[in-house]
Amino acid sequence: MSDATAKKEERRKFQAIRGTRDLLPPETALWNRVEQTAHEVFATFGYGEIRPPIFEPTELFARAVGGETDIVSKEMYSFEDRDDSSISLRPEATASVCRAYIEHGMQILPQPVKLYYTGPMFRRERPQKGRYRQFYQIGAEVLGGTDAPAIDAEVIEMLMTYFDKVGLHGATLYINSIGHNAENCRRGYVAQLKAALEKVKDQLGPDSQRRIDTNPLRVLDSKLESEQAIIATLPHIADHLCDDCKAHYAAVKRQLEIRGVLYEENWRLVRGLDYYMRTTFEITAPGLGSQNAVCGGGRYDGLVELLGGPPTKGIGFAIGEDRLILSLQESGKGQAQQGRDVYIAWMGEHAYAAAIRAAKDLRNAGFSVELPPVEQKFGKALGQADKLGAKYALILGDNEVSEALWTLKTLSTGEQQKLPEPELIDYLKRQQ
Ligand code: ATP
Ligand code: MG
Repeated sequence: MSDATAKKEERRKFQAIRGTRDLLPPETALWNRVEQTAHEVFATFGYGEIRPPIFEPTELFARAVGGETDIVSKEMYSFEDRDDSSISLRPEATASVCRAYIEHGMQILPQPVKLYYTGPMFRRERPQKGRYRQFYQIGAEVLGGTDAPAIDAEVIEMLMTYFDKVGLHGATLYINSIGHNAENCRRGYVAQLKAALEKVKDQLGPDSQRRIDTNPLRVLDSKLESEQAIIATLPHIADHLCDDCKAHYAAVKRQLEIRGVLYEENWRLVRGLDYYMRTTFEITAPGLGSQNAVCGGGRYDGLVELLGGPPTKGIGFAIGEDRLILSLQESGKGQAQQGRDVYIAWMGEHAYAAAIRAAKDLRNAGFSVELPPVEQKFGKALGQADKLGAKYALILGDNEVSEALWTLKTLSTGEQQKLPEPELIDYLKRQQ
């Protein structure tokens, strides 16, 4: 390295890697609220939290998600471990949850086992609004027991309850059934779809052309404007479902209706991961532009077995937390409160001792308190309190301390009153 380049390197300003970002206050308060609501709502449906590791053997994702999917074929961050084995940052968490189910012998627990997770996922994608390389998901999985349609419906009901509690309005639920992998059901359909796609191949873009061989269902997912009219002419999977899958799908819809969950059917909803079967669903939200899916999910009955476990039913979903937050912010629901409850403006050594005591008592009672570390004139302190969005300023000077009557100023109205120290907390609690 030349001296000049070395100097330049030294002065280099570091920035977060493209497609990653810092989540900062006050926005992180909204992230916390969104996650807290998930903990609360999912608990009412009997789910427990799982925290799987952030990296796993590459082979786990290749096998579970599918080698031909975009996620595995081009989006994973993979690297060699010390023993030369390949590990990957997780692009999703369903594979990990299934691995954990098998590893911990959860099939001996009362079934189904209901688990949820929150945390970062990693995909090497082209960054844009609502699409990041490190993004966050809140997901849930139901493993074991039966594939009763009521389970599919309850999972979706829980999701919609969650979106409602978190304040997301205008969300639309789309559902579909993509059958299962046996003869005469999805396989028969895929063969027909492939044949139909071959006939219109030259009218499709390069991605869809490639997918005719690798993953024909995924063509239905195309957002390319020029392909829409052609896709509309392709055969529908609903016409090819076997009797069992048809009955299952009809029952899921009935179960949703009993629960008062509104849905729209979308025959093109196939999802991008290989493990899905039968019920698939997606939820879109307003204010997100073309990245408008805030949640995707579906049934994946064969997955645990595919990963070496016993035959196990499974269904789950993953919410894109970044997009959920964006949508809440767009609709004005995302205003996070950053301010403090009380700013303590103090002057003088005696007042400082009282201020420290007051800060401790107020914080113990759950109020957020700002205690300036150095003495400042009252005028400056009140200006600071305003800037921080404090609701009250507690003014402590020599007079207040010697009279044992403290001054509390309500900053929105400018109103001031005197309170004896023991009454302060009760007074503030009454104002909440
Ligand atoms: P998309 O079609 O938008 O790429 P996907 O089919 O890849 O979504 P899933 O793997 O099912 O998505 O993940 C579930 C949810 O996670 C998506 O609906 C979306 O909200 C969110 N998500 C997926 N990839 C990203 C990303 N790169 N950045 C932000 N959120 C994402
Ligand atoms: Mg994707």
